Amino acid sequence: MSDTIFHKIIRREIPADIVYEDEHLIAFRDIAPQAPVHVLFVPKTPIATLNDVQPSQAEVVGKLTVAAADYAKREGFAEDGYRVVINCNANAGQTVFQLHLHLLAGAPLGRFGTPK
Ligand code: 5GP
Repeated sequence: MSDTIFHKIIRREIPADIVYEDEHLIAFRDIAPQAPVHVLFVPKTPIATLNDVQPSQAEVVGKLTVAAADYAKREGFAEDGYRVVINCNANAGQTVFQLHLHLLAGAPLGRFGTPK
């Protein structure tokens, strides 16, 4: 069984502020928010990084993005706008090796992608 911190959240072994869950994925608030709204969308299928998504698993990524957009609409900030981000490996700063999509919203967001 995979054992990242996110799998522990999926298995309810550690607490999280869960905002959505279905058979495919779970969404919960980031513990260190980088925007007024910062929610992580995590598939239940173990996949370490975006590099590891097989063509047969493309639907997993689709479900994350659709769930994020649905959440934005439900919460009323879809029209104002939001950003989704998937960090992959070291240069993007990935720290948890279970695929996840960041949803950032709630205020105008700064630009991104500047090399350190
Ligand atoms: P990454 O840098 O891998 O793209 O994103 C990992 C995210 O997980 C970070 O934004 C970090 O704040 C968040 N995170 C790490 N540990 C926990 C935790 O135990 N609970 C929650 N809710 N978020 C976490």
